[in-house]
Amino acid sequence: MLSRFSTGLQCLGRRLTSISSQRFSTDSISDHSSAINGLTPDQAELRSSVRKFLDKELPLDLVGKIDKDGHYPGFRDFFKKLGSMGLLGPTVSREYGGLDLTYLDHCIIMEEISRSSAALGLSYGAHTNLCINQIFVNGNEEQKAKYLPGLIDGSKIGSLAMSETGAGSDVVSMKTKAEKKGDYYVINGSKFWITNGAEADVVFLYARTSDKGITAFIIEKGMEGFSLGQQIDKLGMRGSPTTELLFQDLKVPEKNIVGGLNNGVYVLMSGLDKERLVLAAGPVGIMQMACELAFDYTHQRNQFGKPIGTFQILQAKMADMYVALSVSRAYVYNVARAITNYYARKDIDIKGPSPYTKDCAGVILYTGEAGTKVALDAVQLLGGNGYANEYHVGRLVRDAKLYEIGAGTSEIRRWLIGRELNKAYLGK
Ligand SMILES: Cc1cc2nc3c(=O)[nH]c(=O)nc-3n(C[C@H](O)[C@H](O)[C@H](O)COP(=O)(O)OP(=O)(O)OC[C@H]3O[C@@H](n4cnc5c(N)ncnc54)[C@H](O)[C@@H]3O)c2cc1C
Repeated sequence: MLSRFSTGLQCLGRRLTSISSQRFSTDSISDHSSAINGLTPDQAELRSSVRKFLDKELPLDLVGKIDKDGHYPGFRDFFKKLGSMGLLGPTVSREYGGLDLTYLDHCIIMEEISRSSAALGLSYGAHTNLCINQIFVNGNEEQKAKYLPGLIDGSKIGSLAMSETGAGSDVVSMKTKAEKKGDYYVINGSKFWITNGAEADVVFLYARTSDKGITAFIIEKGMEGFSLGQQIDKLGMRGSPTTELLFQDLKVPEKNIVGGLNNGVYVLMSGLDKERLVLAAGPVGIMQMACELAFDYTHQRNQFGKPIGTFQILQAKMADMYVALSVSRAYVYNVARAITNYYARKDIDIKGPSPYTKDCAGVILYTGEAGTKVALDAVQLLGGNGYANEYHVGRLVRDAKLYEIGAGTSEIRRWLIGRELNKAYLGK
């Protein structure tokens, strides 16, 4: 099943001679997670191959530099390498260059990239799920054949643009407008907070097409009237470019409409389940790294004549971190299996929402908040060194916090879960 993936990895392996030396040992923390979570041998191999590649490709010192600079010059090359390994279209069928794997496989890759670099993990999630998977699920044959191969081989970068300065949690109040002129739509307005915006060649864009109607469009870099606004200087996720997009009389052919005129709210909402699920694996990767760094430190650092990890109060903290990581991972993987099984059914419209909306909101609510807590605990375990950028755990706190905000805030997720629970008791 992973032949294309494995071949790509072998090619890279010939170029990359050894795995970079890290200061920490990883095996003791995640050794049994494949067995506990019932991963297939292929899924366990996928995880270990991706991890080996990333340990070499994104060593800690490079990730620290990317965070400090707020920019990664190797961004596009990194995506090309992921593309050559087949990792950019895990849920897309093979005819468009994908691997035809499951949402669980997608989550495993997302988790591993986020473990090495949460920022590049976020960019990966935006490219593969928010853009590629939305085109795969909602696009017509012509759109899929035109856009997916380049996005999946990594020669093109994708993003999704729905948020605006005035439309965040209330995203359907967006003001960006598309007006029909002949066989074109003319788009005016702007989008804010767009992950990969500065690098994107292809943007999955939502715009208002009537008072009540929103429509999804595919737009391309280089179209007249499309330009970049400010690059946002962020607290964390600093290697993931977040950009304002500006549209002034941008002409988009009518054939670039995705999912039908005025059907954008349906396209947007039905995509959110899968978006929240895949992004929920990001904080799992962050927690994995936080545990690795902190547990290694507590067994090297001595105070009062013994390793600090042997003090009971620190054992309790490590135990809580490990359990938060394990519970998060299990919840993500189980919802990923349920989503995969649901959409594999022959009687299901792949474009529609899943019956697991409450759990897709639930996984990212849980892992997002657990990610920040575990990263903060890692800072505490390192004492003063936890507060020094050189030790990386502070970066994990700043990166983790994003997952309580992006793809709907914790408050909106709680509201959505509560609404679903009310529905179960009270009806609509
Ligand atoms: C790094 C980053 C990357 C992003 N990437 C993308 C992207 O690629 N594409 C994209 O389209 N968007 C993206 N976003 C935007 C993101 O989805 C929004 O930031 C998010 O939906 C919240 O919207 P807002 O920032 O406008 O906050 P607001 O909606 O203004 O919320 C502010 C506060 O009010 C609370 N609040 C709002 N409404 C309610 C309510 N009804 N009840 C209770 N509390 C409420 C919120 O929970 C929050 O605490 C990104 C954001 C960030 C920070």
